[in-house]
Amino acid sequence: MTNKKNNLNLTPEQNYVTQKHGTEPAFSGKYNDTKTEGSYNCVCCGAELFSSSSKFNSRTGWPSFWEPVSKESVETQEDLSAGMKRIEVHCQNCESHLGHVFADGPEPTGLRYCINSVSLDLKPKDEQED
Ligand SMILES: [Zn+2]
Repeated sequence: MTNKKNNLNLTPEQNYVTQKHGTEPAFSGKYNDTKTEGSYNCVCCGAELFSSSSKFNSRTGWPSFWEPVSKESVETQEDLSAGMKRIEVHCQNCESHLGHVFADGPEPTGLRYCINSVSLDLKPKDEQED
C-alpha cells in the first residue's frame, strides 16, 4: 500500500488509524493526558487541526477537543460501520482519518471531537517558530 496523499513514512499504527480508519486502544495514546500548550497538527500532512486551548479531559481514553482550530481544518462524514451511526472526522487537507465527533461535549459547542493520538503531532507553543 502506498499513500498517494503524501510521502511520509508512517508507522504501522499511524497507517492503520489514518489510512484504514482504525482506532487506537483507549488510554493507550500519547496525548490522552497531555496538557502541554500548543497546536495539534495532522501527522500525515502537518496541517493544524486542533489547539490545546480546546482540549478537555473527557475521561474516554482519547484526546478530546470541543472544536477544531477552524471550520476548514477538518471535514466530517457519516460513518455507519461497527453497527453504529457515528460522524467520522478527517483532515480536510489530506483526508487522513482522525477519529469521530459526538454531541456530548462541553459548552460552548456541545461537541466532543474524539481523536486518536497517533493521528496527531503536537507542536508545543514554546517550540513554535514562524
Ligand atoms: Zn492531513
